[in-house]
Amino acid sequence: MTGGAAAVRSGIRFDRVSVAYGGNTVLDRLDLTVEPGEVMALLGPSGSGKTTALRAVAGFVQPASGRVYLGDRDVTGLPPHKRGIGMVVQQYALFPHMRVQDNVAFGLKARKVAKAEIPERVAEALELVGMAAYATRYPRELSGGQQQRVAIARALAIRPGVLLLDEPLSALDAQLRSGMLAELARLHRELPDVSILYVTHDQVEALTLADRIAVMDKARLQDCGTPQDLYRRPRTEFTASFVGNANLLPVTVADTTDTTGTTGTTDTTGTVDFAGRALDVPTGDVAGGATATLCVRPHLVGLGDGPNALSGTITEVQWRGSTHRLYVDVDGHRVKADLRELRETPALGDKVTLHFAAEDAVLLPAGTAPGAGGEADG
Ligand code: ADP
Repeated sequence: MTGGAAAVRSGIRFDRVSVAYGGNTVLDRLDLTVEPGEVMALLGPSGSGKTTALRAVAGFVQPASGRVYLGDRDVTGLPPHKRGIGMVVQQYALFPHMRVQDNVAFGLKARKVAKAEIPERVAEALELVGMAAYATRYPRELSGGQQQRVAIARALAIRPGVLLLDEPLSALDAQLRSGMLAELARLHRELPDVSILYVTHDQVEALTLADRIAVMDKARLQDCGTPQDLYRRPRTEFTASFVGNANLLPVTVADTTDTTGTTGTTDTTGTVDFAGRALDVPTGDVAGGATATLCVRPHLVGLGDGPNALSGTITEVQWRGSTHRLYVDVDGHRVKADLRELRETPALGDKVTLHFAAEDAVLLPAGTAPGAGGEADG
């Protein structure tokens, strides 16, 4: 770490935090802990309550109920400037009439840091984001990406234990965004003690940066886990469709005879009925006779005969450079397959058989359907 920029290891804890505007609950009993040094992404569609959660940590909104803790400190009633938090928002919010160095010094002066110490702290923060050479420029003389770097430096100058980032890359174009993502990952490696809460609706940002992702929908936390967990073992249809791409097939559990399991429920395989076909999949603890949704990732679907065969007619073919995306109508259900290295491009109307391995399917209990955000079909 460069120059000890993080003073305290603190972490963030939401303890049943609710926020309402005019009687409308926009954050509903959020329970979530961000460990010291952890990057937690709050991922969800627009309006799901992500920014509200972040602002509750910053102190810009007051919860209707519940408490917010930074480390052991209950900060629920504390004004924003006493929380020791750095915050970066989408629109940089730099002061246009101040040079870069004065923008970065602003928070330090406001916090009455000793005058003699300020230049060093400013230099340290600008160094961290690779902007030391731009200290005397005005914001208008910088690109969008550079302005965002300065905004991050300003947030880091106060050596916060907690850094809040609200869609920090969404005002940048795609190429800059990917560069800044790498920059943020590097920053986190250099500041391993800083807890980061990162609000985004972009699953790539969340999957790339976060140690864990908290998935939000309709004011509620839907799911929380490592990116790998959420992708491989989503617990709800909403997570399955919002984190990565998914086939979500309506099925009925026919039989839960245990063939491989010894202890845990996830080993249990059984048979489900999908449009009149019997498929062998892990049924976990979903009861026989129950309706459920089978999640299979498109890149885990193969072409040709195999286990769990699904025959149908191609309704759409998209060439995506490294893969072909086939849409296949299987008795009125649309199944997506992402296939690599196809010798011949299949044609619309071709009859094909798709298949997938039992272990690549996840059975989701009914009643976990996507919200208004719908299926992310990317
Ligand atoms: P997200 O960050 O997930 O897009 P927000 O937390 O910004 O969602 O907003 C959640 C809900 O709260 C939205 O329906 C939004 O319109 C509403 N909301 C946010 N801020 C205010 C406010 N100051 N007054 C009234 N409603 C608000």
